[in-house]
Amino acid sequence: MSSSLSIRKVAVLGAGTMGNGIAEVFAIAGYEVRLMDISDEILRNALNRIRDSLERLSKRGELKESVDTILSRITTTTNIATAVEGIDFLVEAVPENAELKKNIFREADKYAPSHAIFASNTSTIPITELSETTSRRDKFIGLHFMNPPPLMKLVEITRGKYTSDETVNITVQLTRFLNKEPVVVNKDVPGFIVNRVLFRVMLEACREVTQEGVKIIDLDAMARNVLGLPMGPFELLDYIGLDTSLFIVKAMTERGFRAHPCPLLEDLVNKGKLGVKSGEGFYKYPGPGQYVKPKVLPDQGLDLDPVKLMAPAINELAWLVREGVASVEDIDKSVRLGLNYPWGLSDLADEIGIDNVVSALQYLKNVSNWDEYEPDPLLTEYVKSGKLGRKSGAGFRNYPEVEVRKYDEILLRIDPPAAWIVFNKPDKLNVLTPRMADEIVNALRAVEDDSRVKVVVITGNGRTFCAGADINQFQNASPIQMFKAMRHYHSMTLEIEYYTKPVIAAINGYALGGGLEIAMACDIRIASEDALVGQPEINLGIIPGAGGTQRLTRLTNPGISKELILTGKQVSARKALEYGIVNKVTPNYALEFEVRRWIKELASKPPLTLMLAKYAVNYGFESPIWSSLNNEAALFGVAISTKDSQEGVRAFLEKRKPKFVGE
Ligand code: NAD
Repeated sequence: MSSSLSIRKVAVLGAGTMGNGIAEVFAIAGYEVRLMDISDEILRNALNRIRDSLERLSKRGELKESVDTILSRITTTTNIATAVEGIDFLVEAVPENAELKKNIFREADKYAPSHAIFASNTSTIPITELSETTSRRDKFIGLHFMNPPPLMKLVEITRGKYTSDETVNITVQLTRFLNKEPVVVNKDVPGFIVNRVLFRVMLEACREVTQEGVKIIDLDAMARNVLGLPMGPFELLDYIGLDTSLFIVKAMTERGFRAHPCPLLEDLVNKGKLGVKSGEGFYKYPGPGQYVKPKVLPDQGLDLDPVKLMAPAINELAWLVREGVASVEDIDKSVRLGLNYPWGLSDLADEIGIDNVVSALQYLKNVSNWDEYEPDPLLTEYVKSGKLGRKSGAGFRNYPEVEVRKYDEILLRIDPPAAWIVFNKPDKLNVLTPRMADEIVNALRAVEDDSRVKVVVITGNGRTFCAGADINQFQNASPIQMFKAMRHYHSMTLEIEYYTKPVIAAINGYALGGGLEIAMACDIRIASEDALVGQPEINLGIIPGAGGTQRLTRLTNPGISKELILTGKQVSARKALEYGIVNKVTPNYALEFEVRRWIKELASKPPLTLMLAKYAVNYGFESPIWSSLNNEAALFGVAISTKDSQEGVRAFLEKRKPKFVGE
C-alpha cells in the first residue's frame, strides 16, 4: 500500500459545510482534489466559498501560494466514478445519513483503485458499519474534522474494527501534512472524544438548570469567569445549533453513550428555536445567523460550582483512558484544540484532586440518581493507590516538581507557585502545640526566599483544619508558663501577618480555638461547606489566648466577637461568611480547586507589591489614620520604585498581560 508520502490524488465526496472546507485544506497542502456533489450549482457555490476563504487566509499572510494556484488543484464532478478514478485517498462528507453514506461507499468502492484509503467525516455513525459496505475494510477509517476545517486544528482519527495499523499510520501522517493535529481514537465509540466530553459538560449544565434551578446565564458566566472557557455550555449549544446538538446526543445515546436527555434542548427544538441560526435558542439574537456574545458581569456565576460541572467530563476522560480508546495526551489535545479549552482535562482533574473528583461524582450521583455519574473504576483505583493528583505528585500526570518535607507535626509541600503547610496529626484533630507553632514558623522561613513559591497555604490533613490547642499543656501550668506559651503563639501568628508573601487558610473542617486563631492571621480564608469555626475556650474556663479576642473583633465587630467568645459556640462556614470571618465557602470537594484558583490569581500579581499592599492594610488597621496614611504613602513610594510597577504600567498601556519578576 502507498505511504502518505505517495498520496497525491484525493476525492472529497459532498461539497457542503464540511466538504468544501476539507477540499480547501487538502488543496492548500498541495494535493490534487476531486470534489463531488449532486449538482453543478452546489459545486460552483462550493468553489466560490473556497475562493472567499482562501482570499481571507491570503490577506492574513497564511498562504505560501497564490489563491489561483491552490484553486487550480480542485476539480469538480457530479459523477462518482470520475470522482474516485485514480485516487489514493477519499474523504466522505455527505449528510449524516447511514444509508446514504453506505450507498456512496459501495459505489466508490467499485471505481476507486484498490490501494485507496476511504475515510468518513461522520460524527455519529459507526466507522465499522460503514467499512463493511466496502471490500477494503482494513483501509477504512474515521477522519473527523472540526468546523470550520481550514481554521480548526484538531482531527479525530477513528479506527474501525478492521482498520489496519498501516492505514492509521498513513492517515496520521497525512493529517500532519495537512498541518492539522491528529488524535487517534482507538475504538469506534459513539462521539469519539470531543463530543463525548462536550456532551458530559452540556448535560450536567442542563441538569443543574432543570433540577437545581440554576440560571442559564449564571452557569455560562461561571464557565467563562471561573473555568476560563471561551463560551458557556448554553452559548455553545446555541452556536452549534440546538437541532444538530440534539441529533448528535440522541445518536450517541442510542449507540450506548450512557446519558439522560436534556428536556430544555428538546423543548426549544420543538418550538423551532434552534440557536444562533434561527435567531433564538437559549438566548435571543438580533436575527437569524447573527451571533452576539451573551453579556456577563466579571463576578457573575462565582457562587456556582465549577467542579460539579466538570466532574462528569473527567469521569469520561477516565472511561476513555481505561477502555483504551485514547491516551491522556490525545484527550487533552482534543479538548484544547477541539473545544478551545484553555487547559487539558487531566490538568484540571489533577488540580481538583482525584479524591475530590470522586466525591463530586458521588454527590452528583446521589442528587441526580443518574447511573452515568458512578465514578469510573480508574478514578477509584487512583485514589486507592494514592494517586490523588498534583498534591500527591501524581494523578493522570506526574509532577516531579512537587516536593514534600516532613516535620514532626506538619508537612511542607512545595507545589509551585505555592507551598502548602499541612497540619499532620489527623488522628488528634491536628491539635496545636508549641512544637507545631515552631514548625509553622520554620516552614514559612524555609520557603521565604524560594522564588518558586509565591503564595503559602495553611491547611489540615484529614477532615479537620485544627481543632484547637492541645489542652494537656494547660494542666498544672503556672500563669507565667502560660503567659510565655501564649506569647509563643502570638509570635507565630505575627510571623504569618508579617510574612512577605500572601498566606491563605484553606479551612477544610473544624477550625476551633487555636485553629481559628491561626486562620485569622492569614490574609485570605476559604472554608469548605462542612467547616465549623469557633472560640470554645470559655467552656474550659479560659479565654482565647493566641489572638482570638483581637483578630475576631477586627474581622467582625465587638458584638459578634463577644457573641462567639462568651458563648463558645461553633458556627457554620456559611455563617462565618456572613460574619466576615471567611472570604469564600465551597463544597468540600471543591476546596482544593478553589484554593488553587486563588493561588494562580495571586501568583500572577507583582510579588513585592502584594507584600506592600498586605503591610499597608495590616499596619493601617492597627494605627491611627495619620500614621497609617503616612505609611500607605511611603509604601506607595516603595511600590513605584519597583521594576514590576514600570512593567505593570507599560503592559497596561500596551494592552498586554504584564510579566512580573518580583524586583
Ligand atoms: P452539509 O449538508 O452541509 O453538506 C453535505 C453535502 O453533501 C451537500 O452539499 C449535499 O448536496 C451533498 N450530498 C448529498 N448527497 C450526496 C451524494 N449522493 N453525493 C455527493 N454529495 C452529496 O453537511 P455537513 O455539515 O457538511 O456534514 C457533512 C458530514 O460531516 C456529516 O457526516 C456530518 O455529520 C459531518 N460533520 C459535520 C460537522 C459540522 O459542524 N457541520 C462537523 C463535523 C462533522
